[in-house]
Amino acid sequence: MATEEIRRQVVIIGSGPAGLTAAIYTARANLNPLLIDAPADTDRQTTPGGQLMITTDVENYPGFAKGIEGPALMMEFRKQAERFGTEFLEEWIHKVELQSRPFTLHTDHKIVRADTLIIASGASAKWLHIPGEAKTPKGFGGNGVSACATCDGPLPAFRNKRLVVVGGGDTAMEEATFLTRYASRVYVAHRRDKLRASKIMQEKALRNEKIEFLWNTELTEILGTHEQGVTGVRLRDVGGGAERSFDCEGVFIAIGHKPNTDLFKGQIDMDAVGYLKTNGHSTATNIPGVFACGDVQDSVYRQAVTAAGTGCMSAIDAERFLDHLPVEMPSGEEVTIEGEHITPDRRLIIEPTGEVIPNEPVLD
Ligand code: NAP
Repeated sequence: MATEEIRRQVVIIGSGPAGLTAAIYTARANLNPLLIDAPADTDRQTTPGGQLMITTDVENYPGFAKGIEGPALMMEFRKQAERFGTEFLEEWIHKVELQSRPFTLHTDHKIVRADTLIIASGASAKWLHIPGEAKTPKGFGGNGVSACATCDGPLPAFRNKRLVVVGGGDTAMEEATFLTRYASRVYVAHRRDKLRASKIMQEKALRNEKIEFLWNTELTEILGTHEQGVTGVRLRDVGGGAERSFDCEGVFIAIGHKPNTDLFKGQIDMDAVGYLKTNGHSTATNIPGVFACGDVQDSVYRQAVTAAGTGCMSAIDAERFLDHLPVEMPSGEEVTIEGEHITPDRRLIIEPTGEVIPNEPVLD
């Protein structure tokens, strides 16, 4: 079967709040965006729509006074992007080539060429991969097990209940502290006897009378029934290996997030963890024409509303980038929006003043 080739001015990767907001803006700007996202896959833990698809009530997205369910919110985003003409492609991307424009993306069945690329591939919560943790009905994910206290903590199922938070970093301290507003007691299970979290976050959690630490402790299983949800966990003492059951009604896994950036390794600048680096107050990456928005470039705020905000920024950044691209004339000469003429052999630039300069890359 011949591989179909598609070319678009704007290609967006990811259908969470960032990607869909970028789609809404670029579609309204008549840029005919193509949005590519991985198909749903339980084993690879991919969900089109991003992390909100595994959240129940979203109570902090502005504009929904009564709250809205995560999947329903994403459906509204998607319908809005469709309304203005966004085209969707649900396929795995296997390879990207970003050395020259148009950029090239190889998917399951297509070769996609993009004048600009907006990366909104998000981040995924890390999981322990223990029995009982998978999404309902395989386990209790969404039925007492969560990886987002801000999203799920205030739900009735967790109010006045005994909750276990797993992890020893800032996320675990923040989530445990947040959960004390609702829970009767919060237990932080950490695999070592020292926390990784920053001093200030540690102190806040250690001072909180509702939080108890279970040191040198690992979870080996989450227990429960489908009717009741979570009823307890199996804990293992890391030192001696002894196991015991521990009663609780909720488990929050807070062992960090992993940005979905494996595809771009070696091509786009990233920080040590793998978050894409963007330039100053913009969504531009180190590659002109490639923009990054949402959780793939934000390890700090990680909210749906901030992701949507940066999605809007990347759409505007891409639009401005396209506006400044030279237009190729029938003669082979290119003309920029500023009135510069680039000779057909691409070796010289003739400025609007008539000055002729060599067409060389600008080095920082
Ligand atoms: P993190 O710093 O990498 O901490 C992850 C924690 O989970 C560590 O304590 C680690 O244990 C534990 N862990 C990892 N894998 C585990 C496993 N398989 N089983 C059991 N425990 C496991 O991640 P994070 O807390 O999400 O923080 C990420 C970054 O975001 C940090 O730079 C942090 O400062 C920042 N952040 C900042 C704030 C804030 O300032 N408000 C809030 C959240 C996050 P070990 O310690 O034994 O490795």
